[in-house]
Amino acid sequence: MKFAQLLGGVTFAVAAATLAAPAAAQSYPTRPVTIVVPFAPGGPTDIVARSLGQAMEKSLGGTVVVENKPGAGGTLAVADVARAPADGYRVLVHHIGMSTAPALYRKLPFDPLKDFEYIGLINAVPMTLLVRPGLPVNSVKELAAYVKANRDKVTLANAGLGAASHLCGLLFQQAIATDLTTVPYKGTAPAMADLLGGQVDILCDQTTQTTPQILSGKLRALAITSPRRIETLKDVPTAAEAGLPGFELSVWHGMYAPKGTPKPVVDKIVASMQAALKDPDLVKRFTDLGSVIESPERQTPDALSRYLKSEIDKWAPIIKKAGEYAD
Ligand code: ASP
Repeated sequence: MKFAQLLGGVTFAVAAATLAAPAAAQSYPTRPVTIVVPFAPGGPTDIVARSLGQAMEKSLGGTVVVENKPGAGGTLAVADVARAPADGYRVLVHHIGMSTAPALYRKLPFDPLKDFEYIGLINAVPMTLLVRPGLPVNSVKELAAYVKANRDKVTLANAGLGAASHLCGLLFQQAIATDLTTVPYKGTAPAMADLLGGQVDILCDQTTQTTPQILSGKLRALAITSPRRIETLKDVPTAAEAGLPGFELSVWHGMYAPKGTPKPVVDKIVASMQAALKDPDLVKRFTDLGSVIESPERQTPDALSRYLKSEIDKWAPIIKKAGEYAD
């Protein structure tokens, strides 16, 4: 083959690929879109992703499935999506852990600030401090005293280093100036099952999962991490009211696609997420579970990118002070 012919072939191939990209973006989605969730099924992150995915099916005009990929405090799932083809068919829903991982892990197999296209902020939700049935305490003050007296046997469950429950547990231990033995799970759904069964003593978890358990009286919440009491759990005191000023935590969620996902595809996912966050069934479900949907200006790629950066800067010194990290 002559050089000119070869060159012509290459030029044609490049032109065809360039033309194919917008065409693929235009017809997106032509097959199911997978939302990867970094924790076990049935837990708070899973509930957010499944509700969103279900509502997005209407606005995206295609099937949305959820795949749980728990492990290493959520970082396995993030690395998975960072390395996935940048075509909009594998996206991630993750929480505040996206911003704490850089301070918690010495080696992280992804860069939250470089490896993703941002879709937008979804919602924010407080956490509740729960104790197992039968633990002889009725308030945060009594829990702090009990924990100090029984330090060697009290256990605190979490969903791994980098989970919101881990961060909440860290803040709680700092607030009462006591280190506890922690028990990591693949998500707070299995952690809650063990709390209910009495295998672990304490769990701090999002109201998304804990609200029904608290309202039915199956579990006792000693405090909530919001600055004010929330309507759905008005009998639960804020941490400040319970004697732990400054113990505040709002778990925000965001949606991400792999870096390089074509802009028209990103735009379609953004529009679909924004439409889903207005869906009456989703709005009711989120509200009933104490979860606040982000305002429309924050449901955008720019807002998520800016907020993620500010959260990374906020949590790094706090985590460093706690001296907690993994290799
Ligand atoms: N609530 C969990 C956490 O601690 C995660 C989950 O299971 O959704 O981050």
